[in-house]
Amino acid sequence: MLRTDDHRRDSAGLRYVYPVISRRAGGVSVGINLNPNNACNWACVYCQVEGLTRGGPPPLELDRLEAELAGFLDDAITGDFMPRQVPETARGLVDVAFPATASRLRRRSLPTPWRGWRRRSGVSA
Ligand code: SF4
Repeated sequence: MLRTDDHRRDSAGLRYVYPVISRRAGGVSVGINLNPNNACNWACVYCQVEGLTRGGPPPLELDRLEAELAGFLDDAITGDFMPRQVPETARGLVDVAFPATASRLRRRSLPTPWRGWRRRSGVSA
C-alpha cells in the first residue's frame, strides 16, 4: 500500500514510471523518472533520491516509457491498482508529472507517450 511519505521510484516495479500519493494534490500523482541510475549533476537541498550520484542518465528508451505509462494509466483508471495499492481516501489520479530537468530534446519527445496513451484510451484531458 502506498503512503504519503513513501516516494520510492521503484514502487510499481517499472523503470520510468512510478506512482506516489500526493498529500497536497489529494490523490495519486504519476512520476516519470528519466534518471533510473540515480545520477544527477544538481544538488537540490530538497532532493529525496536515495543513493544520488553525479552524472547523467542512460539513453532514454522511449518505447519502453510509452508502454510503461500506458500500462500504468490503464491499470490506475480501469484496473485494480487503486483498491490494491492506494488508501481509500486518496483513490484518484490527479496528475502526471513530467520532469522539469529534462533537456530540451527530451522534453520535446516526452509528450509522445502521453499522446499515444490518450489516443488509444479516448481520454481528452
Ligand atoms: S534535480 Fe532532482 S534528482 Fe537532481 S538533485 Fe535536484 S531533486 Fe535531486
